[in-house]
Amino acid sequence: MLAQPLNVFKFGGASLKDAAAIRNVANILKAYKGKRLVIVVSAMGKTTNALEVVARAYTTGDTETARRKLSELHNSTMTTVKELFGDTPEELAASLNDLFVSVEWVFEDEPNESYDYDYDQIVSLGELVSSQVVAAYLKHEDLPTSWLDARDCIITDNTYREGWVQWPETQSRISNAVPPLLDEGNFVLTQGFIGSTTENFTTTLGREGSDYSAAIFSYCLDAEAMSIWKDVPGVLTADPRLFENVSKVDRLSYKEAIEMTYYGASIIHPKTIKPLQNKSIPLHVRSFIDPLSPGTEITSEAGDTYPPMVAVEKEQALVNISTRDFSFVAEHHIRELFEHITTTRLQVNMMQNTAISFNVVVNDIDDRVERFCKLIDKDFKTTVDRDLELITVRHYTNEVAESMRRGKVQLLEGRMPLTLQMVVKEIPVIRRKR
Ligand code: ASP
Ligand code: MG
Repeated sequence: MLAQPLNVFKFGGASLKDAAAIRNVANILKAYKGKRLVIVVSAMGKTTNALEVVARAYTTGDTETARRKLSELHNSTMTTVKELFGDTPEELAASLNDLFVSVEWVFEDEPNESYDYDYDQIVSLGELVSSQVVAAYLKHEDLPTSWLDARDCIITDNTYREGWVQWPETQSRISNAVPPLLDEGNFVLTQGFIGSTTENFTTTLGREGSDYSAAIFSYCLDAEAMSIWKDVPGVLTADPRLFENVSKVDRLSYKEAIEMTYYGASIIHPKTIKPLQNKSIPLHVRSFIDPLSPGTEITSEAGDTYPPMVAVEKEQALVNISTRDFSFVAEHHIRELFEHITTTRLQVNMMQNTAISFNVVVNDIDDRVERFCKLIDKDFKTTVDRDLELITVRHYTNEVAESMRRGKVQLLEGRMPLTLQMVVKEIPVIRRKR
C-alpha cells in the first residue's frame, strides 16, 4: 500500500513571535489534523539576533552581558509560555530550563578558538526552545505531535555557521526517523536552521536557513508539497519594506525563484529551491495572516510573462584588483584569485574584468575581504568600496532601471537579456549652511 502523501510546513520567526502568533499557527494546523505533516520551525521572533549578541559578548570576554542577555531571553520565553498555557506546564518549564542551562555551561569555559563553533553552540538554542514551546502547545490543543531533534537527522560537515549537508547520511536518518512517527498519527515537529556533525557537534546552516531545512526534509521524504508560511501574501515583485506598489506573483518557476533569491530576495532562503527542483516538489509561499488565500506556487512550469522583479542585496563590497606589474589579468591570475576567494569563503555576486583589472562584488561578511586582500597582496593591488547595494532586476524595463538608479551613484552594471544588475551607493546628503 502506498503511504498517504506528506506535506512539509515551515513557520518562520514572525509567525511565532508571541503567544498570539503561536495560537494562530495552531489554528492553521487544526485544519490538517490527521494528515501526514512535518512542521519545521524557526526561533521565535528576533531570538536569533539576540543570541548573536550573546555569542559575541561571550567570545569577547563579556560573560556578564552574555548571561544577562540570555536570562532576558529565558524570561521572555517564560512570559510567552505563561500567556499560552495559563499555568506553566512543569515538564515544559523543566526542558526549557535545561536548554538555557546548557548554554550557561558554555560560559564556564574559555571561548573556543573558532568563533563559528561557539556561535553554533549558542545560537542553535533559539530553534530548540521554540520547537519545545510549539510542540507542547500543539499537544495542549489536541494536536498529537512528536518533537524531533533535527540534529539527529540533518548531518553536515564541520563548516560551522554554514554546515554543508551530507546527503546520503541525512537521507538515511530522515527516512528512518520520520515515517514511524507519522504512522502513529502524529504531526512531526522539528527545528529549522540546525544540524549536527557525525561527531554530534551542533552546526547551523546559515542565517535564515530554516527554509532550507524544510526543503531537506521535503526532499528526503518525497513530500507532495512544501509550504512556507509568511507575513506577506506570497512572493512579491519587490520587498514591500523597500518599495511601493509591489504586487504578488501567482506562479513562478524554480529558475526565477532561484535567480531572485540568490541575489537577495529575502522571501526564501536561496538554498531551498534546488532540493525541491530536483524532485519536482511544488513550493507554496502562503500567508499565515490569510491562510485560505492561494499565495504563490513555485514549480517547474514557467509563467507566461513575468513583471519586473527586484531584489536588493545590501552590505556589498566591490573589490577592484589589479596586477602590480601591469601584466594582463590572464587565466592563471584568475585561477589564483579564485583559489583565495574559495579559501576565504568570499561569496561572489558579480564580476567584471578589463585588461589589467578584475572587479568582484562580494557579500561583506566579517573580515573576509581583508583576509582575501592580504593573501593576494604580493601580486595584486586592491581597492575596496564598502556599504554598497547590489540591485538585481529580472525582466527589467528601462523605466524600472531608471527608477532604481535615482538618488544613487552607480559603480558597476551588468546587463543580460533577462537580468539587469547594478552596484550602487547612496548619494550622501550634503547639508548646506544657511
Ligand atoms: N532563526 C534563524 C535565523 O533567524 C533561522 C531562520 O529563521 O530561518 O536566521
Ligand atoms: Mg526567518
